[in-house]
Amino acid sequence: MRQRAYVKMGVIFFFALACNAARVPKQAPIDLLIVNAHVVTMNPRQPRAEALAIAGDRILWVGDTEEAKQRYSDTTPLDLGGATVIPGIIDAHTHLLPLGESLIKINLKDLPSESAIVERVRQETNHTPPGHWILGWGWDEGKWAADYPTHAALSAATPDHPVFLTGLHGFAGWANAKALETAGITRVTKDPPKGEIVRDRNGAPTGILTNHAQELVAKHLPKLTLEQVKRAIERAAEECARHGLTSVHEAQVSRIMIQAYRELVREGRVAVRISVMIDGADRALLDEWLARGPEIDAHHRLTIRSVKLFADGALGSRGAALLEPYSDEPSTRGLLTTPGDAVYDVTRRALERGFQVATHAIGDAANRQVLDAYERALRETKAKDARLRIEHAQVVALEDVPRFAQLGVIASMQPAHCTSDMPWAEKRVGPSRIRGAYAWQTLLKSGAHLPLSSDFPGETLNPFHGIYAALTRQDPEGKPEGGWRPEERLTLDEALRGYTAEAAFAELEERDKGSLEAGKLADFLVLSADITKVSPKEMLELRPRRTYVGGKLVFQASP
Ligand SMILES: [Zn+2]
Repeated sequence: MRQRAYVKMGVIFFFALACNAARVPKQAPIDLLIVNAHVVTMNPRQPRAEALAIAGDRILWVGDTEEAKQRYSDTTPLDLGGATVIPGIIDAHTHLLPLGESLIKINLKDLPSESAIVERVRQETNHTPPGHWILGWGWDEGKWAADYPTHAALSAATPDHPVFLTGLHGFAGWANAKALETAGITRVTKDPPKGEIVRDRNGAPTGILTNHAQELVAKHLPKLTLEQVKRAIERAAEECARHGLTSVHEAQVSRIMIQAYRELVREGRVAVRISVMIDGADRALLDEWLARGPEIDAHHRLTIRSVKLFADGALGSRGAALLEPYSDEPSTRGLLTTPGDAVYDVTRRALERGFQVATHAIGDAANRQVLDAYERALRETKAKDARLRIEHAQVVALEDVPRFAQLGVIASMQPAHCTSDMPWAEKRVGPSRIRGAYAWQTLLKSGAHLPLSSDFPGETLNPFHGIYAALTRQDPEGKPEGGWRPEERLTLDEALRGYTAEAAFAELEERDKGSLEAGKLADFLVLSADITKVSPKEMLELRPRRTYVGGKLVFQASP
């Protein structure tokens, strides 16, 4: 007690001295001093600044250039010549491993037609021994759902190799005859639960396998080793840093992935910070983590505090669960993939153990079922500030919109899903339900938290393309004119907040991340242009010149 009083008096004395001696007290040298920048802090108490002082992995001070030079006169400053600085982008829904794998697999993403894909795969047979798998990724199963390709042309071009081409969003796979043969899929094979072997008029498999039917082939693929998983994640994380992401929320991770992240972090090989959503479908893994409790390392490199569940499928393949039948397919309402009781049960156990739950819900029936399950679990556990999330919240019944704010449920949404789906989304749900679809502004006005994300590799990981989609609701060519349902567009401040402060809130890290202010982690970007001044078109060209994570330069563009 006595000692504390002395310390207190000493502090007062020191400040009195410092204030008398000079207007700006000089500070000890620091690790990095940024000056002459246009800093967009995303801190409402100090929205703009010119200088950042960084010590270790944290921001020590934020202010103007002149004061910075006086305070830290022993540190050589980095003069940015007026360049714009923003907080590091936090992508709230990502998949590093498939991104890394796609960097290794054949990339089919930008190939325009079936014949182009078949030709690309055929080239691969030239340097792949017969009998060895050829794996590709990135044909758009949403866009092609109305008219799926078949294995015919693919099989003719690749008679000696099993081929499996995964869709852009992971909801369908395309196999050739050799792969179907290897997996033992014939006309008598029954559809597995929650999946379909697409068949022709005569009942023969066409080569397209949707949802869980993909596993019939996937289980015959050679398994990735831990070292391959690590390499894929490392590659993907470098790609993130290159695009200005400094943190990602990994939306569904397996046991081997957790082991890979841990080792990569320990070995200093992963460029960005990772928050993990444990795959709730793996009961053994889930039980193990619920028994153990959350894990956050001292430097906020790896956070394991969230559980991922799936309530339904996707809208494009009509797997999203709707309250009423699909407008363009009255025989189906889609499919609930996890019963409400199971969502409730996992949520209750997770809340009791200090975990957050994030559930994939696309259709209005899935969203309602998850809100009901969350409501019950919140009531029974009396959990405070639980930060339960719904991933996508894509089609929400208008009467359910206020429940997000009322229950404190976070709507974790992806601007690019809207602009990818807008050509056909209204056909699926009709003119009335579309009012609660991709309804960012409606949800924001209702008081819901709205972190934004890419859901890469299904969509590009470039966050400036996501911001462009959020601002315009147009495709990169500027179509449709004026934007699709433009009343749901976001402002630049709302979009940036979604990729910074709101995303930090969604991972319970808002004390450490999401804005540039003293005490927070020094994660920030130096941009190629002023994000507050660029036109939407120029937003597509915006790039990070430098990416810093914890005060360390992790990416620098070549001049
Ligand atoms: Zn996802």
